[in-house]
Formats: sequence, C-alpha cells, structure tokens
Amino acid sequence: MALELCFAERIVRTPAAVSYRFSRPPGFAFAAGQYMLLWPEPDGSLVHPLSFSDGPEEDFLEFTKRMTGSAYCQLLERLRPGDVVTAKGPVGSFSAEGSSGRIVCIAGGIGITPIRSILAEMAQRHDRRPVTLIYGNLDENDIAFATELAALPLPQFRVVHVLQHPGGRLQAHSGLISAEIIRSEVPDLTAAMFLISGPPVMVKAVEGQLAALGISPEKIRIDRFLGYS
Ligand SMILES: Cc1cc2nc3c(=O)[nH]c(=O)nc-3n(C[C@H](O)[C@H](O)[C@H](O)COP(=O)(O)OP(=O)(O)OC[C@H]3O[C@@H](n4cnc5c(N)ncnc54)[C@H](O)[C@@H]3O)c2cc1C
Repeated sequence: MALELCFAERIVRTPAAVSYRFSRPPGFAFAAGQYMLLWPEPDGSLVHPLSFSDGPEEDFLEFTKRMTGSAYCQLLERLRPGDVVTAKGPVGSFSAEGSSGRIVCIAGGIGITPIRSILAEMAQRHDRRPVTLIYGNLDENDIAFATELAALPLPQFRVVHVLQHPGGRLQAHSGLISAEIIRSEVPDLTAAMFLISGPPVMVKAVEGQLAALGISPEKIRIDRFLGYS
C-alpha cells in the first residue's frame, strides 16, 4: 500500500549516518526488523528500501541512511519539515520472534538499523532473553546509536564493539568481526539464534564464520543491505 509520509526531523547520528523522522500515519503498524520502500521525491523515480531504525511503539517513523553522496542521499538531505514523501510497505520478515534462547545480533555498520528496531522493541516488551550485539564499524566516530544502545533497558544485554581502527575511548576488539571474536564473546554458541544485518560482503563473511563454528543455517537469520559493496 502506498502512503504519504510527512517529514518531521533530521538527526545526525555520525558523520556518515543521518536519521529522517516522519509523522506516523494513524493506524500504521510495522514489526521491528521490517523496512519500507521510500521515494524521497513526489512522482520521482528514485527509490530505495530503508529499514525502520526505531521501535514500532514510537509516535514517529524513523529511517537512517548511510550518507554516500548518491542522488538518493541528496534528495533526502533536501527534505524540509512538512515535505511529503511516498512510501510502500512495511515489508520483510527479519525478526527475533520464535526463539527462546540467547539472541546474537551481528551488525556491520549501517546494518544496525533493523537490529536497533528489534532491540528497542525487546526493551519495550521487557524481554528477558539474553542478547549479545556484536557491532562492527570503522572507528569510534562511525558507531551509529552508540549512546542509545548503551542505555537500552534490557536486563541481559551486552554490546561488543569491533573497530577496524580502535581509538582507545571505547573497549573494542580490533579488526573485522571474526569467528574468534564470536567464539570468545558468546557463551552458549550452539543454543543461540543469530541475526546478521549489513552489506552483502559482510553478511557473506559472517555466514562463513558461523559455518566454521558449527552453527546450522536454521539458527541464522539474515538482512542483506543490497546496494552496498
Ligand atoms: C532490505 C534492505 C534494507 C535496507 N535498509 C537500509 C537502511 O536502513 N539504511 C541504509 O543506509 N541502507 C539500507 N539499505 C540499502 C539501501 O536501500 C541502498 O541500496 C543503499 O543505501 C545504496 O544506495 P545509495 O543511495 O547510497 O547509493 P546508490 O548510488 O543509489 O546505489 C549504489 C549502487 O547500488 C545499486 N543499488 C541500490 N539499491 C539497490 C538495491 N536495493 N538492490 C540492488 N542494487 C541496488 C545501485 O544501482 C548502484 O549501483 C537497505 C537495503 C535493503 C535491501
């Protein structure tokens, strides 16, 4: 179903990630982890899928885009409060539902968006499942939602940062997300459900690492951000 969303607010998350908030149409519902197709220009042809980056209980809809300088990003950056965009959805089945044990979220960069939505919903529902978030970024400045994630009121939640260029302000593993890091940070590996979200290259690498750790594919759910190399 096509919807008209009214732009409300722009929030800079990092030098390379910006959130765009829209008024929530009355009665509109989505599930954490889903996305919408968003046309930033009325009657325009440029469209991309963007995941909701906040929980389904908020009175706004939020999407967070990695700023690449593309024509699409430029259209988003031109939005002013009151502007209307066209959206279709919600779509997608990426979710932490239906699993009772530990949840391990593995996010590569902007792949954090659906995972943040899922974690926000879990906090809102007072979910007591143990959750580990393994979150890979370039450096400390590149971590979107660092403060919000650290403050999430989830009783059994831990964020493990993995930075290609650690800066010393934050405790983090150095390099890329690896099988060794996953093994050392997740206590009950074989009982866990894994949610991976990020660019296709990162997702493929993590799938390989989980296979090497003996995790069966049924325990893995994937959100592949096509469009990033
Ligand atoms: C399910 C899903 C959820 C996503 N959620 C987010 C999100 O929350 N935040 C975010 O920043 N990005 C998200 N993405 C990626 C986003 O939709 C764009 O594809 C990506 O941001 C590249 O767009 P661009 O404007 O930066 O560059 P562009 O220059 O528009 O695109 C870069 C290249 O990728 C190709 N391309 C673009 N989009 C797609 C596509 N959907 N499928 C295949 N090829 C494509 C283009 O043809 C071009 O060659 C998501 C993608 C998917 C599939």
